[in-house]
Amino acid sequence: KAKDKGKNNYVLCSNTIYEEVEFKNKLISHLYHALDNNELRVYYQPQISLETGKIVAVEALLRWQHPELGLIPPKVIIPLAEQTGLINPIGEWVLKTACLQNKSWQDMGLAHVRIAVNVSATQFRNPLLINQIQKLLKETELKPKYLELELTESIAINRANYVIRVLNRLKKIGVYISIDDFGTEYSSLSRLKLLPIDQLKIDKQFIDGIVGDEKDQAIVNTIIQLAKNLGIAVIAEGAETIEQVNFLKENRCDTVQGFYYHKPMQAVEVEQVLRQNLKTPG
Ligand code: C2E
Ligand code: MG
Ligand code: MG
Ligand code: MG
Repeated sequence: KAKDKGKNNYVLCSNTIYEEVEFKNKLISHLYHALDNNELRVYYQPQISLETGKIVAVEALLRWQHPELGLIPPKVIIPLAEQTGLINPIGEWVLKTACLQNKSWQDMGLAHVRIAVNVSATQFRNPLLINQIQKLLKETELKPKYLELELTESIAINRANYVIRVLNRLKKIGVYISIDDFGTEYSSLSRLKLLPIDQLKIDKQFIDGIVGDEKDQAIVNTIIQLAKNLGIAVIAEGAETIEQVNFLKENRCDTVQGFYYHKPMQAVEVEQVLRQNLKTPG
């Protein structure tokens, strides 16, 4: 009997793997056309200054509006794009869409905020990146200080010399640089000191625990102090409750991004929020 069961399990299991591979291949073949078919979207999530209560930046977050499967999140899209090399054209499209959108908000007379764009390791290694960004800023007429690049900690700590060179060039252009998901990878502090960065972004996993977990409180406080001591800004990501926001305020975190304030939204909704923001005192 056990043997039969094992056999069934095997069949079931191999079916599942087969279906999974099929599904992934289908998604990949669709992804090749997603750009041309206008199926990619950028959602935007505001980042709020804890001192003034105003929006200081907006993060661009990729989505794929699949005709049959609905809205597909970046956790699915990005790995597929990395595997197929589509990350470069898709990343370039996100950068352009985000910069154009920000310029358009500025032209409407709304507050000037930074647009923060995630850059993957593959994009960062692309030797054309710097030229792409320079060209893009020229074309869109967005001032470099209103473009922010979010790099993950792993990009920042590997291949240190190359990274420092690229970051120095980006700084020279005037682009704002943040280290995303900070605290999730092993960072060498001696290297961190060499990087010309503007901001640390504390990963959501620590923010999740700051109400109640003393260790998460200690970690968040330490990252805030580290940023202050390095003379750079610090933002917390993924704050969902007033208690979390209060903790961050009390501990002098500069900026917060999270569902407590706003979920990622479409551009038209952000426009409304930015309009409201004009009326916010501070
Ligand atoms: P990330 O850069 O760390 O972005 C923050 C993620 O946390 C977003 O998920 C956002 O929706 C989510 N988030 C923000 N506040 C809260 C909150 O209060 N509660 C909860 N539960 N979640 C919150 P999203 O949009 O699914 O993006 C996931 C990741 O995909 C991003 O993490 C980023 O690493 C990557 N990604 C997104 N867009 C792009 C892109 O255009 N290019 C690249 N290379 N990666 C991207
Ligand atoms: Mg990010
Ligand atoms: Mg992050
Ligand atoms: Mg994250």
